[in-house]
Amino acid sequence: MLQFPIYLDNNATTAVDPRVLETMLPYFTTQYGNAASRSHPFGWVAEEAVDFAREQVAHLIGAVKQEVVFTSGATEAANLAIKGVYEMYAGSGNHIITCVTEHKAVVDTCLHLEKKGAKVTWLPVNEQGLISLEALEAAITPQTILIAIMYANNETGVIQPVREIGHIAKKHNVIFCCDATQAVGKIPVNVLEDEIDLMLFSAHKFYGPKGVGALYVRRKSPRVRLAAQIDGGGHERGMRSGTLNVPGIAGFGKACEICSEEMHSEAPRLSALRDKLEQGLLQLEAVKLNGDGAPRLPHTVNISLNYLEGQTLIMSFAKQIALSSGSACTSASMEPSYVLMAMGLNDMLARNALRMGVGRFTTMAEIDYTIDTITKAVLEMRAISPAWEAYKHGI
Ligand SMILES: *Cc1c(COP(=O)(O)O)cnc(C)c1O
Repeated sequence: MLQFPIYLDNNATTAVDPRVLETMLPYFTTQYGNAASRSHPFGWVAEEAVDFAREQVAHLIGAVKQEVVFTSGATEAANLAIKGVYEMYAGSGNHIITCVTEHKAVVDTCLHLEKKGAKVTWLPVNEQGLISLEALEAAITPQTILIAIMYANNETGVIQPVREIGHIAKKHNVIFCCDATQAVGKIPVNVLEDEIDLMLFSAHKFYGPKGVGALYVRRKSPRVRLAAQIDGGGHERGMRSGTLNVPGIAGFGKACEICSEEMHSEAPRLSALRDKLEQGLLQLEAVKLNGDGAPRLPHTVNISLNYLEGQTLIMSFAKQIALSSGSACTSASMEPSYVLMAMGLNDMLARNALRMGVGRFTTMAEIDYTIDTITKAVLEMRAISPAWEAYKHGI
Protein backbone atom coordinates (compact mmCIF):
# COMPACT_ATOMS: atom_id res chain seq x y z
CA MET A 1 0.00 0.00 0.00
CA LEU A 2 1.22 3.47 -0.86
CA GLN A 3 1.49 6.04 1.90
CA PHE A 4 0.49 9.58 0.99
CA PRO A 5 1.82 12.11 0.33
CA ILE A 6 4.73 10.59 -1.54
CA TYR A 7 7.88 12.53 -0.70
CA LEU A 8 10.00 13.55 -3.69
CA ASP A 9 11.50 16.73 -2.26
CA ASN A 10 14.68 15.18 -0.87
CA ASN A 11 16.80 18.09 -2.15
CA ALA A 12 14.94 20.39 0.24
CA THR A 13 15.38 18.08 3.21
CA THR A 14 15.31 14.40 4.10
CA ALA A 15 13.70 12.27 6.79
CA VAL A 16 15.94 11.40 9.71
CA ASP A 17 17.10 7.80 9.36
CA PRO A 18 15.81 5.73 12.34
CA ARG A 19 19.40 4.66 13.08
CA VAL A 20 20.35 8.34 13.32
CA LEU A 21 17.46 9.11 15.65
CA GLU A 22 18.40 6.20 17.90
CA THR A 23 21.96 7.54 18.14
CA MET A 24 20.69 10.99 19.10
CA LEU A 25 18.14 10.11 21.78
CA PRO A 26 20.42 9.47 24.79
CA TYR A 27 21.97 12.93 24.38
CA PHE A 28 18.57 14.52 25.04
CA THR A 29 17.69 12.44 28.08
CA THR A 30 20.41 10.87 30.19
CA GLN A 31 23.61 12.16 28.58
CA TYR A 32 22.66 15.80 28.43
CA GLY A 33 25.99 17.34 29.40
CA ASN A 34 27.61 20.38 27.83
CA ALA A 35 30.57 19.26 25.71
CA ALA A 36 32.57 22.17 27.12
CA SER A 37 32.08 21.11 30.77
CA ARG A 38 35.44 19.73 31.84
CA SER A 39 34.74 19.09 35.50
CA HIS A 40 32.34 16.12 35.52
CA PRO A 41 31.30 12.98 33.62
CA PHE A 42 28.28 14.65 31.96
CA GLY A 43 30.64 16.95 30.11
CA TRP A 44 33.15 14.20 29.39
CA VAL A 45 30.50 11.96 27.84
CA ALA A 46 29.18 14.79 25.68
CA GLU A 47 32.67 15.74 24.56
CA GLU A 48 33.40 12.12 23.69
CA ALA A 49 30.24 11.96 21.58
CA VAL A 50 31.21 15.13 19.72
CA ASP A 51 34.74 13.83 19.19
CA PHE A 52 33.44 10.52 17.83
CA ALA A 53 31.04 12.32 15.48
CA ARG A 54 33.83 14.61 14.31
CA GLU A 55 35.78 11.50 13.24
CA GLN A 56 32.76 10.11 11.40
CA VAL A 57 32.18 13.40 9.58
CA ALA A 58 35.86 13.81 8.68
CA HIS A 59 36.07 10.23 7.43
CA LEU A 60 33.22 10.71 4.94
CA ILE A 61 35.01 13.61 3.20
CA GLY A 62 38.64 12.47 3.48
CA ALA A 63 39.57 15.04 6.12
CA VAL A 64 41.03 14.81 9.62
CA LYS A 65 38.82 15.63 12.58
CA GLN A 66 40.71 18.82 13.49
CA GLU A 67 39.52 20.26 10.17
CA VAL A 68 35.80 19.95 10.96
CA VAL A 69 34.02 22.99 12.44
CA PHE A 70 30.43 22.29 13.50
CA THR A 71 27.83 24.91 12.60
CA SER A 72 24.04 25.18 12.52
CA GLY A 73 24.00 24.14 8.86
CA ALA A 74 25.33 24.94 5.44
CA THR A 75 24.05 28.53 5.38
CA GLU A 76 25.98 29.41 8.51
CA ALA A 77 29.02 27.55 7.19
CA ALA A 78 28.86 29.56 3.93
CA ASN A 79 28.75 32.80 5.89
CA LEU A 80 31.68 31.74 8.07
CA ALA A 81 33.74 30.59 5.08
CA ILE A 82 33.17 33.52 2.74
CA LYS A 83 33.00 36.38 5.22
CA GLY A 84 35.73 34.72 7.29
CA VAL A 85 38.12 34.62 4.33
CA TYR A 86 37.20 38.11 3.17
CA GLU A 87 38.04 39.60 6.56
CA MET A 88 41.10 37.46 7.26
CA TYR A 89 42.74 37.96 3.87
CA ALA A 90 41.81 41.62 3.40
CA GLY A 91 45.52 42.41 3.20
CA SER A 92 45.95 40.16 0.14
CA GLY A 93 43.02 41.35 -1.95
CA ASN A 94 39.27 41.82 -2.18
CA HIS A 95 38.29 39.80 -5.25
CA ILE A 96 35.93 36.81 -5.05
CA ILE A 97 34.94 34.59 -7.96
CA THR A 98 31.64 32.75 -7.75
CA CYS A 99 28.88 31.56 -10.05
CA VAL A 100 25.35 32.74 -10.85
CA THR A 101 23.73 29.38 -10.04
CA GLU A 102 25.04 29.07 -6.48
CA HIS A 103 22.59 28.51 -3.63
CA LYS A 104 21.28 31.67 -1.96
CA ALA A 105 23.50 30.94 1.04
CA VAL A 106 26.51 31.74 -1.16
CA VAL A 107 24.88 34.27 -3.52
CA ASP A 108 23.51 36.47 -0.75
CA THR A 109 26.73 36.28 1.27
CA CYS A 110 28.69 37.46 -1.77
CA LEU A 111 26.13 40.22 -2.43
CA HIS A 112 26.54 41.33 1.16
CA LEU A 113 30.31 41.60 0.74
CA GLU A 114 29.90 43.34 -2.62
CA LYS A 115 28.07 46.12 -0.76
CA LYS A 116 30.98 46.28 1.69
CA GLY A 117 33.57 46.80 -1.03
CA ALA A 118 34.35 43.32 -2.34
CA LYS A 119 34.80 42.90 -6.07
CA VAL A 120 32.80 39.85 -7.13
CA THR A 121 33.00 38.08 -10.48
CA TRP A 122 29.78 36.18 -11.23
CA LEU A 123 30.67 33.42 -13.67
CA PRO A 124 27.88 32.46 -16.08
CA VAL A 125 26.95 28.84 -16.89
CA ASN A 126 26.27 27.17 -20.22
CA GLU A 127 22.95 25.55 -21.16
CA GLN A 128 23.94 22.45 -19.19
CA GLY A 129 24.56 24.50 -16.06
CA LEU A 130 28.34 24.17 -16.14
CA ILE A 131 30.90 26.93 -15.67
CA SER A 132 33.76 27.36 -18.13
CA LEU A 133 37.16 26.48 -16.66
CA GLU A 134 38.82 28.87 -19.10
CA ALA A 135 36.58 31.72 -17.95
CA LEU A 136 37.35 30.82 -14.33
CA GLU A 137 41.10 30.91 -14.87
CA ALA A 138 40.87 34.11 -16.91
CA ALA A 139 38.95 35.82 -14.11
CA ILE A 140 41.73 35.31 -11.55
CA THR A 141 43.70 38.47 -10.74
CA PRO A 142 46.44 39.21 -8.19
CA GLN A 143 43.59 40.51 -5.97
CA THR A 144 41.67 37.22 -6.01
CA ILE A 145 41.39 35.69 -2.55
CA LEU A 146 38.53 33.22 -2.97
CA ILE A 147 36.82 31.00 -5.53
CA ALA A 148 33.37 29.82 -4.34
CA ILE A 149 31.84 27.25 -6.67
CA MET A 150 29.35 24.59 -5.64
CA TYR A 151 29.81 20.85 -6.03
CA ALA A 152 26.35 20.03 -7.32
CA ASN A 153 23.36 22.25 -7.89
CA ASN A 154 20.34 21.88 -5.61
CA GLU A 155 17.78 22.45 -8.38
CA THR A 156 19.26 20.47 -11.26
CA GLY A 157 21.78 18.12 -9.63
CA VAL A 158 24.38 19.24 -12.19
CA ILE A 159 27.90 18.50 -10.93
CA GLN A 160 30.62 21.08 -11.62
CA PRO A 161 34.16 19.97 -12.63
CA VAL A 162 35.25 20.33 -9.01
CA ARG A 163 38.62 18.62 -9.27
CA GLU A 164 39.66 20.88 -12.17
CA ILE A 165 38.43 23.95 -10.27
CA GLY A 166 40.45 22.87 -7.23
CA HIS A 167 43.48 22.43 -9.42
CA ILE A 168 43.18 25.89 -10.96
CA ALA A 169 42.69 27.45 -7.52
CA LYS A 170 45.79 25.71 -6.19
CA LYS A 171 47.88 26.70 -9.21
CA HIS A 172 47.05 30.37 -8.59
CA ASN A 173 47.26 30.18 -4.78
CA VAL A 174 43.61 31.08 -4.34
CA ILE A 175 41.43 29.55 -1.60
CA PHE A 176 38.72 27.28 -3.01
CA CYS A 177 35.43 27.10 -1.10
CA CYS A 178 32.94 24.49 -2.25
CA ASP A 179 29.26 24.23 -1.28
CA ALA A 180 28.95 20.44 -1.28
CA THR A 181 25.61 20.35 0.53
CA GLN A 182 23.87 18.30 -2.16
CA ALA A 183 26.85 16.12 -3.02
CA VAL A 184 28.06 14.88 0.37
CA GLY A 185 26.53 11.51 1.21
CA LYS A 186 25.29 11.02 -2.36
CA ILE A 187 28.53 10.75 -4.32
CA PRO A 188 32.13 10.29 -3.14
CA VAL A 189 33.55 13.67 -2.08
CA ASN A 190 37.18 13.87 -1.04
CA VAL A 191 38.67 17.20 -0.04
CA LEU A 192 42.24 16.06 -0.74
CA GLU A 193 41.63 14.62 -4.20
CA ASP A 194 39.36 17.55 -5.11
CA GLU A 195 41.85 20.08 -3.68
CA ILE A 196 39.12 21.83 -1.71
CA ASP A 197 40.18 24.28 1.03
CA LEU A 198 36.80 25.07 2.58
CA MET A 199 33.69 22.94 2.20
CA LEU A 200 30.19 23.30 3.55
CA PHE A 201 27.55 20.66 4.05
CA SER A 202 24.52 19.93 6.15
CA ALA A 203 23.18 16.88 8.00
CA HIS A 204 19.53 17.27 7.01
CA LYS A 205 20.29 16.72 3.31
CA PHE A 206 21.43 13.16 3.98
CA TYR A 207 19.12 11.73 6.66
CA GLY A 208 20.55 13.59 9.62
CA PRO A 209 18.77 16.22 11.75
CA LYS A 210 18.06 19.81 10.73
CA GLY A 211 20.12 22.60 12.25
CA VAL A 212 23.50 20.87 12.15
CA GLY A 213 26.19 21.21 9.53
CA ALA A 214 29.89 21.65 9.16
CA LEU A 215 32.59 23.68 7.55
CA TYR A 216 35.69 21.79 6.52
CA VAL A 217 38.71 24.08 7.03
CA ARG A 218 41.98 22.84 5.52
CA ARG A 219 44.83 22.65 8.03
CA LYS A 220 47.83 22.24 5.77
CA SER A 221 49.01 23.18 2.28
CA PRO A 222 47.58 25.70 2.71
CA ARG A 223 46.50 26.27 6.31
CA VAL A 224 43.31 28.29 5.90
CA ARG A 225 42.58 30.90 8.53
CA LEU A 226 39.18 32.46 9.11
CA ALA A 227 37.86 35.47 10.97
CA ALA A 228 35.15 34.18 13.33
CA GLN A 229 31.65 35.43 12.62
CA ILE A 230 30.18 34.41 15.98
CA ASP A 231 32.18 35.41 19.03
CA GLY A 232 31.83 33.97 22.49
CA GLY A 233 33.30 31.14 24.50
CA GLY A 234 35.88 30.16 21.91
CA HIS A 235 34.30 26.83 20.96
CA GLU A 236 35.43 25.10 17.74
CA ARG A 237 38.95 26.51 18.11
CA GLY A 238 37.57 30.03 18.23
CA MET A 239 36.01 29.80 14.78
CA ARG A 240 32.43 29.26 15.94
CA SER A 241 31.49 30.00 19.52
CA GLY A 242 28.35 28.67 21.13
CA THR A 243 27.40 25.54 23.05
CA LEU A 244 27.54 22.58 20.71
CA ASN A 245 24.34 20.85 19.67
CA VAL A 246 25.44 17.49 21.05
CA PRO A 247 22.42 15.36 20.01
CA GLY A 248 22.43 16.94 16.56
CA ILE A 249 26.15 16.43 16.13
CA ALA A 250 25.91 12.79 17.27
CA GLY A 251 23.18 12.28 14.66
CA PHE A 252 25.20 14.08 11.99
CA GLY A 253 28.12 11.72 12.69
CA LYS A 254 25.89 8.65 12.43
CA ALA A 255 24.37 9.94 9.18
CA CYS A 256 27.90 10.33 7.77
CA GLU A 257 28.88 6.84 8.91
CA ILE A 258 25.82 5.31 7.23
CA CYS A 259 26.61 7.16 3.98
CA SER A 260 30.27 6.08 4.12
CA GLU A 261 29.15 2.47 4.36
CA GLU A 262 26.10 2.47 2.11
CA MET A 263 26.62 5.17 -0.53
CA HIS A 264 28.15 2.76 -3.01
CA SER A 265 25.10 0.52 -3.00
CA GLU A 266 22.57 3.30 -2.44
CA ALA A 267 23.61 5.48 -5.39
CA PRO A 268 22.77 2.89 -8.07
CA ARG A 269 19.43 2.18 -6.38
CA LEU A 270 18.58 5.88 -6.35
CA SER A 271 19.65 6.41 -9.93
CA ALA A 272 17.49 3.46 -11.05
CA LEU A 273 14.46 5.14 -9.40
CA ARG A 274 15.42 8.53 -10.80
CA ASP A 275 16.00 7.16 -14.32
CA LYS A 276 12.61 5.44 -14.29
CA LEU A 277 10.91 8.67 -13.21
CA GLU A 278 12.83 10.71 -15.73
CA GLN A 279 12.18 8.36 -18.64
CA GLY A 280 8.52 8.14 -17.68
CA LEU A 281 8.01 11.91 -17.69
CA LEU A 282 10.07 12.44 -20.83
CA GLN A 283 7.37 10.51 -22.70
CA LEU A 284 5.29 13.67 -22.46
CA GLU A 285 5.43 16.14 -25.32
CA ALA A 286 7.11 19.54 -25.06
CA VAL A 287 9.20 18.80 -21.98
CA LYS A 288 12.84 19.62 -21.36
CA LEU A 289 15.28 17.72 -19.15
CA ASN A 290 17.37 20.38 -17.44
CA GLY A 291 21.08 19.63 -17.19
CA ASP A 292 20.75 17.00 -19.92
CA GLY A 293 24.18 15.68 -20.90
CA ALA A 294 25.99 17.13 -17.89
CA PRO A 295 27.21 14.94 -15.00
CA ARG A 296 24.36 14.88 -12.47
CA LEU A 297 23.66 13.64 -8.96
CA PRO A 298 22.10 10.17 -8.89
CA HIS A 299 18.87 11.20 -7.17
CA THR A 300 17.81 14.46 -8.82
CA VAL A 301 15.68 15.17 -11.87
CA ASN A 302 14.53 18.58 -13.10
CA ILE A 303 12.08 18.81 -15.98
CA SER A 304 10.46 21.90 -17.49
CA LEU A 305 7.05 21.63 -19.09
CA ASN A 306 5.92 23.91 -21.85
CA TYR A 307 2.36 25.15 -22.40
CA LEU A 308 0.93 24.86 -18.93
CA GLU A 309 1.06 26.62 -15.58
CA GLY A 310 3.62 24.76 -13.46
CA GLN A 311 2.42 26.02 -10.10
CA THR A 312 -1.18 25.01 -10.86
CA LEU A 313 0.05 21.60 -11.96
CA ILE A 314 2.05 21.06 -8.76
CA MET A 315 -0.87 22.18 -6.58
CA SER A 316 -3.24 19.81 -8.42
CA PHE A 317 -1.48 16.78 -6.96
CA ALA A 318 0.14 18.37 -3.88
CA LYS A 319 -1.80 16.11 -1.49
CA GLN A 320 -0.52 12.99 -3.25
CA ILE A 321 3.00 13.99 -4.31
CA ALA A 322 5.35 16.41 -2.56
CA LEU A 323 7.76 18.02 -4.98
CA SER A 324 8.81 21.56 -5.80
CA SER A 325 9.32 23.82 -8.78
CA GLY A 326 12.77 24.92 -7.70
CA SER A 327 14.64 25.45 -4.48
CA ALA A 328 12.56 25.63 -1.31
CA CYS A 329 13.57 29.25 -0.85
CA THR A 330 12.69 30.54 -4.29
CA SER A 331 9.63 28.38 -4.97
CA ALA A 332 7.62 30.25 -2.33
CA SER A 333 8.14 33.51 -4.19
CA MET A 334 6.65 32.33 -7.53
CA GLU A 335 9.64 33.83 -9.31
CA PRO A 336 11.08 31.90 -12.23
CA SER A 337 14.12 29.88 -11.17
CA TYR A 338 17.29 32.00 -11.45
CA VAL A 339 19.24 28.79 -11.91
CA LEU A 340 17.23 27.77 -14.96
CA MET A 341 17.19 31.33 -16.34
CA ALA A 342 21.00 31.32 -16.11
CA MET A 343 20.99 28.13 -18.18
CA GLY A 344 19.21 30.03 -20.95
CA LEU A 345 15.64 28.87 -20.37
CA ASN A 346 12.89 31.29 -21.22
CA ASP A 347 10.57 32.68 -18.56
CA MET A 348 7.88 30.06 -19.15
CA LEU A 349 10.24 27.08 -18.92
CA ALA A 350 12.06 28.57 -15.92
CA ARG A 351 8.71 28.90 -14.12
CA ASN A 352 7.31 25.53 -15.08
CA ALA A 353 9.97 23.24 -13.68
CA LEU A 354 9.39 20.12 -11.62
CA ARG A 355 12.30 19.34 -9.35
CA MET A 356 12.25 15.88 -7.89
CA GLY A 357 14.70 14.22 -5.55
CA VAL A 358 14.27 10.55 -4.76
CA GLY A 359 15.65 9.32 -1.47
CA ARG A 360 16.57 6.45 0.80
CA PHE A 361 12.92 5.69 1.55
CA THR A 362 11.51 6.07 -1.98
CA THR A 363 10.05 2.91 -3.55
CA MET A 364 9.53 1.86 -7.16
CA ALA A 365 5.76 1.72 -6.54
CA GLU A 366 5.86 5.40 -5.58
CA ILE A 367 7.72 6.22 -8.78
CA ASP A 368 5.14 4.35 -10.88
CA TYR A 369 2.30 6.20 -9.15
CA THR A 370 4.09 9.53 -9.65
CA ILE A 371 4.64 9.03 -13.37
CA ASP A 372 0.97 8.08 -13.82
CA THR A 373 -0.37 10.95 -11.75
CA ILE A 374 1.80 13.67 -13.28
CA THR A 375 1.18 12.39 -16.81
CA LYS A 376 -2.60 12.42 -16.30
CA ALA A 377 -2.52 15.88 -14.72
CA VAL A 378 -0.43 17.31 -17.57
CA LEU A 379 -2.68 15.81 -20.24
CA GLU A 380 -5.79 17.13 -18.48
CA MET A 381 -4.39 20.64 -18.10
CA ARG A 382 -3.24 20.79 -21.67
CA ALA A 383 -6.58 19.49 -22.96
CA ILE A 384 -8.16 22.76 -21.85
CA SER A 385 -5.19 25.07 -22.57
CA PRO A 386 -5.49 27.54 -25.47
CA ALA A 387 -1.67 27.80 -25.62
CA TRP A 388 -1.41 24.04 -26.07
CA GLU A 389 -4.14 24.11 -28.72
CA ALA A 390 -2.27 26.83 -30.59
CA TYR A 391 1.00 24.87 -30.33
CA LYS A 392 -0.65 21.68 -31.62
CA HIS A 393 -1.96 23.60 -34.60
CA GLY A 394 1.49 24.93 -35.28
CA ILE A 395 0.68 28.54 -34.49
C1 LIG B 1 20.15 23.10 1.47
C2 LIG B 1 21.32 23.78 0.87
C3 LIG B 1 22.00 24.80 1.55
C4 LIG B 1 21.54 25.33 2.89
O1 LIG B 1 21.68 24.38 3.88
P1 LIG B 1 21.11 24.63 5.35
O2 LIG B 1 21.81 23.62 6.19
O3 LIG B 1 19.65 24.36 5.26
O4 LIG B 1 21.44 26.00 5.76
C5 LIG B 1 23.10 25.36 0.94
N1 LIG B 1 23.54 24.94 -0.26
C6 LIG B 1 22.91 23.96 -0.94
C7 LIG B 1 23.44 23.54 -2.27
C8 LIG B 1 21.78 23.36 -0.41
O5 LIG B 1 21.16 22.40 -1.09
